[in-house]
Amino acid sequence: MKMRKISVIIFWLSISLLGQTFAQNIEKAQPLHWWVGMRNSNLQIMLYGKNIGKSEVKINYKGVKIKKVQPVENPNYLFVDLEIGAGTVAGKMPISLSQNGSIQTFEYELKARQGQKSQMKSFDPSDIVYLIMPDRFANGDPNNDNIEGMLEKANRSNPHGRHGGDLQGIIQNLDYFQKIGVTALWLNPILENDMKAYSYHGYAATDLYQVDRRFGGNQVYQELIDKAHAKGIKIIMDMVANHIGLENFLVKDIPMKDWLNQFPTFTKSNFRGETVSDPYASEQDKMLMANGWFDTNMPDLNGKNPFVANYLVQNNIWWIEESGIDGIRMDTYPYPDKNFMSLWAKAILDEYPNYNITGEAWLMNVPAVSYWQRNQKNADGFQAHLPSMIDFPLYRAMSQAFKEPYGWETGLARLYVTLSQDFAYPNAINNLIFLDNHDVTRFFTDANQNMSAYKMGTAFLLTTRGIPQWYYGTEVLMTGEGADHPSLRVDFAGGWAGDKVNVFKNENLRPAQQEALAYFSKLANWRKTQKAIHKGKLTHFVPNDNMYVYFRHTETESVMVILYSGYKDTELDTQRFAERLKGFKTAKNVITDEKLGNLDKIKVPAYSALVLELEK
Ligand code: CA
Repeated sequence: MKMRKISVIIFWLSISLLGQTFAQNIEKAQPLHWWVGMRNSNLQIMLYGKNIGKSEVKINYKGVKIKKVQPVENPNYLFVDLEIGAGTVAGKMPISLSQNGSIQTFEYELKARQGQKSQMKSFDPSDIVYLIMPDRFANGDPNNDNIEGMLEKANRSNPHGRHGGDLQGIIQNLDYFQKIGVTALWLNPILENDMKAYSYHGYAATDLYQVDRRFGGNQVYQELIDKAHAKGIKIIMDMVANHIGLENFLVKDIPMKDWLNQFPTFTKSNFRGETVSDPYASEQDKMLMANGWFDTNMPDLNGKNPFVANYLVQNNIWWIEESGIDGIRMDTYPYPDKNFMSLWAKAILDEYPNYNITGEAWLMNVPAVSYWQRNQKNADGFQAHLPSMIDFPLYRAMSQAFKEPYGWETGLARLYVTLSQDFAYPNAINNLIFLDNHDVTRFFTDANQNMSAYKMGTAFLLTTRGIPQWYYGTEVLMTGEGADHPSLRVDFAGGWAGDKVNVFKNENLRPAQQEALAYFSKLANWRKTQKAIHKGKLTHFVPNDNMYVYFRHTETESVMVILYSGYKDTELDTQRFAERLKGFKTAKNVITDEKLGNLDKIKVPAYSALVLELEK
């Protein structure tokens, strides 16, 4: 993610070491609670409260052992390392803190695990992931637009401001997702961003255990997850390990100086993700990539600090275990220390071996992206443990392929050339593929607002290898330029009371929008049952004459896709595809339901995509 700058300067907060009496309550204990029976029996609780650092800690709870109590530079923190033995019974565990004869006790809850949640099926190539920016999708509850005491108020006329969209708005439209055929929702971050400005996008968290109350808070998030699950829709949580918001208490009252990567004056990252895998990178460049700040209002977390690493890993596990989310999208993957990211992903997968995590490594070449995928055999020995890559190289190919004249390496040939590099990925089919997202030019703009290009792009996205991700509103031809964030994140029509166009009710849509919506949902709903698309192999043929032909196939099923960028109707002689057509006699055109009685010659209209379900 990239964002606009605001001029706020972080001050290194001096830590008061003056003696103060121990009378204050513990303000925070994080994680908020934990579970018995986790695969990893270790837990590090961070306690926060005025001068609690020198306290003596006692726990008397069967099965639980204190391994270590660690005060740190800031006396307002205390880290308590526990081992929760096998067989420990769920319950409220009393923790006593004593200092100078004064004792206070509080209860920390150890819950029983909800087995079903931890056994869930994560997202995979059978899904279509629909990306939503929650502030900009639908305002289901206007009462939460402004919350007393929170810094930024709603202002729908400010393109950089909060517009009032929320989780209730997503809950109210679960039927819409079902109807158009998407099966998973990725929401841009929903954790509290109590920042002075630009807080709508969610990438500057101020409390990692609190869903922003302007989105509805933790309870409504849970309601969304449960109601989505009841309709067979998965929820993917967007997480950030690289940075937090300037207003986070961990910045304002920092536990220790190296909780953050700090510099004498504000120092930006060089944003060169290549440096992490580049065999020739200088130490200076690697340091700036990892330690430089993403932005002035986003302090850079130091994952090399084991307290920070524990804090983030446990927070992410907490959300999985607590809420039953079905997967994670991790932001800015190459920006933190790479060994920390490796440790992070491994810790999640050790706890949830079948979990899927997709990571944003915004790099435009295949080797640099594949460096991060699980089981990659990197020359430097690095192992990132990340199951799914957000596929920027294929995105780049798609952003050109459907509008550009065909050539040896241009137009549709870009798709072929890019996919031919898949040997570099350990698991290319698990990549998250997309035509657009919240950070890049919307696809219909990229496609020069050409309906045929829109259809070709949609057909390709939903039939090639990978997990398709669709950005809200592209189905009704929303437009927007990448360099201008607000234009990519316009309110979804119909999400606000009084909107003149209502996509949810198909009201007042222009004919072209109706056509685009119908095209997407026809293919998306068809895709739900297509094993050949979910797990079949991809076989493609060298493109020529403006045409790119490929097949997705299992032992028994096969889908043939023809993408054609010529401006004249043509007839395709299928002889050279015999190895994949053998045994199939007829086909169904998935979009028109038309039957093709003869596969020897196939009529292909000018500038079109054909998706054919082959029949024996
Ligand atoms: Ca609202």
